[in-house]
Amino acid sequence: MRTLKVKTLLIQLSIIGYAAFIGGWIQNTFAASAVSFVGQEGRMGTGRCEAASPDHVCLALKYSVYRDHLGEPVVSQAEAFQNVREVDQVWSQCKIGFKIESFVQVDPSEDQLNYRPADTGELDIIRRRLEDPEHLLVVTTGTWNRAGTLGSSPANAWTSMPGENLYGAILEKPVGRFGNIIAHELGHYLNLDHVNDAQSLMNPVIYDHSTSLSREQCENARYAVRTYWQKMIRN
Ligand SMILES: [Zn+2]
Repeated sequence: MRTLKVKTLLIQLSIIGYAAFIGGWIQNTFAASAVSFVGQEGRMGTGRCEAASPDHVCLALKYSVYRDHLGEPVVSQAEAFQNVREVDQVWSQCKIGFKIESFVQVDPSEDQLNYRPADTGELDIIRRRLEDPEHLLVVTTGTWNRAGTLGSSPANAWTSMPGENLYGAILEKPVGRFGNIIAHELGHYLNLDHVNDAQSLMNPVIYDHSTSLSREQCENARYAVRTYWQKMIRN
């Protein structure tokens, strides 16, 4: 695992200059958002959704992962739970937590999906297949084939903002174990836009220290929970 992370870090460092630009362009053009990861895996968390205070809100996730040609999930169930513990560590500052209620392994060929999506349009096909009305959707696919339109951006993840027809955060395998990326994507899910601040979770490029959320961002995210995601609330 360590080797993979270091390798990912080097790849992403080479494109950091572009990612910041791409982030702004995506917001204006598609009302969706993308992010790249630079840095190490986030800190360990303790699953705060379970140890909630009365004003803590817990949101249910459907966590879907592709299987490769050997039938192995790109992210194991144990890794997915660890990711969410890391996400909870970040989001605890807004008193928002997440829990995996549904962990789904997807055989893409059975669903006529590509293990390695190539075009942004494929991401909506994935959302259409996997979304359900009572869970926020997080999907990890195989590594994207950048010969298609997904190659026009260095982004490793795309999330529909509230108000879109389809919803769901879709990540590619190389960032499937980065809790901060998933936390960032869930920020878009909760209607947060990018801000240019490397300390912020909503910076277009995520570093290992990009974890802060302002009081206003927390208020906006909690408002989005009440407005858009009531059916996902579990406490
Ligand atoms: Zn983003």
